[in-house]
Amino acid sequence: MRIILFGPPGAGKGTQAKLIEKEFNIPQLSTGDMFRAAIRNQTELGKKVKNILDSGQLVPDETVVELVEEALNDEKYVNGYILDGFPRTVPQARAFDERLKRNGRKLNAFLSLEVPDEELMKRILSRAEGRSDDTPEKVKVRLEVYNEETAPVLNFYKQKGVFQEINGLGTVDEIFERIKTVLNKTR
Ligand code: AMP
Repeated sequence: MRIILFGPPGAGKGTQAKLIEKEFNIPQLSTGDMFRAAIRNQTELGKKVKNILDSGQLVPDETVVELVEEALNDEKYVNGYILDGFPRTVPQARAFDERLKRNGRKLNAFLSLEVPDEELMKRILSRAEGRSDDTPEKVKVRLEVYNEETAPVLNFYKQKGVFQEINGLGTVDEIFERIKTVLNKTR
């Protein structure tokens, strides 16, 4: 199955992606994790994106698309994947769509985790991952960036008939149950 897990920062994409990975045996691909690893390992990419991640802004589309295209060529993704944090702009969604068409593949599900803004801020500020972009000021920027640049991606997928809304409020287990119900119907 090819799945996009979509939602604002703090919606629980990373947590749910890991649960889906385990339950359905599909590998997760998180662009945020890839960027953080590149920064940690001080690679060329890491140097290029460090200030961008610290500011809460988005990495340029070209860089992200190139990274994902290359990563998805890995054999471990041949039978499917869960995309977490990508696509995050309409141009990224278009580029990904092109890739699927080129490879004669289809997206099985676009899961949109729905969580109100006040709850997002609360969740991010209470998580203790030590992320440099988890401060109140940066979270505010990330939510603004989400509303302006990322939310339009929703409309792109609503037109494609794969769009599924998931209530992102409740416990981790409750949310995962909702996701499982949807994915079991999609299989
Ligand atoms: P995340 O872990 O998904 O919250 O991503 C952390 C940060 O990585 C974001 O605030 C962006 O700076 C960058 N990033 C991750 N994925 C993307 C993407 N698809 N497009 C642009 N920037 C991204």
